[in-house]
Amino acid sequence: MSATYYTRRWPELANCTLVKGLDEQGRSKQGFCAGCGAALTGRRIVWCSDACMELVFGNHRWQYARAIVLREARNRCAFCGGWAYEVDHIEPARGRHGEFSCIHHRTNLRALCHRCHKARTAEQRATDASRARRARREAAEREGQRRREMQPRLAI
Ligand SMILES: [Zn+2]
Ligand SMILES: [Zn+2]
Ligand SMILES: [Zn+2]
Repeated sequence: MSATYYTRRWPELANCTLVKGLDEQGRSKQGFCAGCGAALTGRRIVWCSDACMELVFGNHRWQYARAIVLREARNRCAFCGGWAYEVDHIEPARGRHGEFSCIHHRTNLRALCHRCHKARTAEQRATDASRARRARREAAEREGQRRREMQPRLAI
């Protein structure tokens, strides 16, 4: 029988630099903290302390991480110092907000005011659009080259 305690399958966390208590399938060992990997004492089953729970949830679950970032920033915008009530992903989350993911590490988050966040999002969209245009152009060039190479050129 396996001695692992299945908290939940979090495969992405196995490669996380913050979490030490999970194996490569995202499982914690029975009797050891899922956050820091230390042996559990007393009646603890998953976490050795609330700090370890906060380490995992506060860096991987968007709603937790977001609330902590705003609290730690004391609602100050990282750009202009104004009143911040929005949180921005430095490396964009691209639809992963609902997922348990390392994209929500607090080092990847910053508190922003509505105006700075809007400007930042617009800038990100422009970058994404120009990247997509470049990718399409490069694909078309490759396809053109492929066709040229497939043309039999016989010197008769
Ligand atoms: Zn711990
Ligand atoms: Zn601002
Ligand atoms: Zn992580």
